[in-house]
Amino acid sequence: MAAQHILVIDEGTTSTRAILFGFDGKLQASQQEELQQFYPAAGLVEHDATEIWDKTLRCCRKIIEKAGGAEKIAAIGITNQRETVVVWDKRTGEPLSKAIVWQDRRTAPMCDNLRAQGLEPMVQAKTGLLLDPYFSGSKIGWMLENVPEAAAAGDNLAFGTIESYLIFRLTGGHHITDASNASRTMLVTLDGNNWDDELLGLFKIPRKTLPTIVDCAGDLGKTSAALFGTAIAICGSAGDQQAATIGQGCLTVGQTKATFGTGAFILTNSGATPPRSNHRLLSTILYQLDGKRIYALEGAVFVAGSLIQWLRDDVGLITYAGESEELARSVEDNGGVYLVPALSGLGAPHWKADATATISGLSFSATKAHIVRAALEAMAHQCHDLKTAFSADGTDWQSLRIDGGMVANDWMVQDLADILEIPVERPEFFETTALGAAMLAAVGSGIYDTLEDASVMISGLEIYHTTMINSQRETRLAGWKKAVEGVLDS
Ligand code: ADP
Repeated sequence: MAAQHILVIDEGTTSTRAILFGFDGKLQASQQEELQQFYPAAGLVEHDATEIWDKTLRCCRKIIEKAGGAEKIAAIGITNQRETVVVWDKRTGEPLSKAIVWQDRRTAPMCDNLRAQGLEPMVQAKTGLLLDPYFSGSKIGWMLENVPEAAAAGDNLAFGTIESYLIFRLTGGHHITDASNASRTMLVTLDGNNWDDELLGLFKIPRKTLPTIVDCAGDLGKTSAALFGTAIAICGSAGDQQAATIGQGCLTVGQTKATFGTGAFILTNSGATPPRSNHRLLSTILYQLDGKRIYALEGAVFVAGSLIQWLRDDVGLITYAGESEELARSVEDNGGVYLVPALSGLGAPHWKADATATISGLSFSATKAHIVRAALEAMAHQCHDLKTAFSADGTDWQSLRIDGGMVANDWMVQDLADILEIPVERPEFFETTALGAAMLAAVGSGIYDTLEDASVMISGLEIYHTTMINSQRETRLAGWKKAVEGVLDS
């Protein structure tokens, strides 16, 4: 029987997944393995790229078996945690050190130094990004200086983001990156087709160590036949937030989505002209098809679901993520408690890499329920700050489509609608990141002609409306403003 499935590799920050879709967008099967997080010191976050590869392979093999063999897979789509950098040897594909994860702040001094030289306006004008350790460029620069094996690899040295590493391993040596992932490196201009010499010079990165930048859909290579029995075509690739924007059907200018996973990322489709932010938002490539780019304005918040994970695993206030909803509902309000979750600095729109988190407004009447509620409320508060920044940049959200692991929390979703004062739309099928990668693979393999055609794969939406009274919202936002000012001033 002919191929009838799309296999998506969804390489998240906390897990590796292989997901099988029908051409109609229906989920057929999925396989997941957790990824180990390495925290060697404060502010440092690493992954083991060998573990990522091994788990990817295992998840894919299980799903391909469920599909009835590799010949049943029409195409592979890949989506990934962005900015995270892998360094490897081209001869073996073996990593030369741990991968540096997007949350890692070790290059803050390098970025501060470049900022002190007055280089941020140039970087922002060229890349749409800010001089922050979040992006890949400074992480690659750090590896070149600090990983002796990298210097020793000579001409065989290779860098790439996670999708680039996976494609290299899957194809047995094809070194490419898609334009959406490339736009997060700080090494490519928003409208340039290749790595930019001036930007490479900031971090002394040799061009030949980097992958070739390609479209997000099309013929991106074939898996080595030995891996799955038969070669499978890789036809789609995009960073996770760009993929989620596509999977949410935000295909026309102004449509906006927010993903609440480990962090929270809000992207508005800006069309064919790169947006320019005056309010510390990012301009990024949403996707590139047939060499043509569509752009997005982005607000990146570093801590979202990871706050709930931290409350569970490190603080012990809850035993499972869903308990946060029960606790939030168990109290009438936050009791004056505010939590600013700057656990790995503050991202948009504040960008303070060395900010630390606070819980304020505590008194003897505060209980763990108030603290947990304050943690969930922080999501709506952070989004409200972004809504204000987007609006100041000329982009007013009419509604917000949400997804990611956290949106299973109905209380948080209603709170978002209450604080943002716009309809909040949650798809019936939350896995929009994987769906976006499936849509790209479907277009890249010719199952559908365009992303608009592929949007038949998208499910229906559940809409949450504002119910909160104005005075309550004003109290909340005033309390949050004071709490954030406390963090920014310290
Ligand atoms: P990622 O793709 O970044 O690995 P996911 O989209 O899978 O993340 O989301 C997982 C996050 O969602 C975890 O950090 C977890 O704490 C959070 N989460 C899951 N369920 C809930 C819930 N019911 N309430 C609040 N947070 C939740």
